[in-house]
Amino acid sequence: MTTPTPPATGLDAQDLLRRHLAGEDVSDVLSELAGSDPSLAPVLSLLAKRREDAQEPDDDSDPADAPGRRAAEYERHRLLVESVSAQVDSLTEDLARMQQTFDELAGALGACPVCLGDNPACQLCHGRGGPGWIPPQPAAFVRYVVPAIRAHQYARARGPRPANSTATERTGT
Ligand SMILES: [Zn+2]
Repeated sequence: MTTPTPPATGLDAQDLLRRHLAGEDVSDVLSELAGSDPSLAPVLSLLAKRREDAQEPDDDSDPADAPGRRAAEYERHRLLVESVSAQVDSLTEDLARMQQTFDELAGALGACPVCLGDNPACQLCHGRGGPGWIPPQPAAFVRYVVPAIRAHQYARARGPRPANSTATERTGT
């Protein structure tokens, strides 16, 4: 903002106030004008008061407490960081566990370990890595797939089940 310097007399008080409210430092102009125009006294006094207020801390507690306030603030931030850090650690552990399970399932199915064949944008399989894409890993296959096949065969052998049957009814006990 380039405001022409007003002449020492005939100052536009509104303009000065506007510049002050916009955050501009008008103290030079104020000191120049102080006393030159008695009608500006109330405005000058108000602006000076506002400048003082702006320089004071928001609360009116004893400045001697500043180190204590800083320590409390530091402690609050430290606890916050500690809490967020613990949550990140916990989420990282959860993610690692889920990733391991996903890897084992993908191995058991012989599917893409990145997307199970569900993502055409997958850089590893381009969406073609569904179950059977590669030979399954034997141990994972025995662990995850064989029990599912047995349950599937058992269910088929018993014939079609009633529409609203439960898992307990299907196992026959
Ligand atoms: Zn994939």
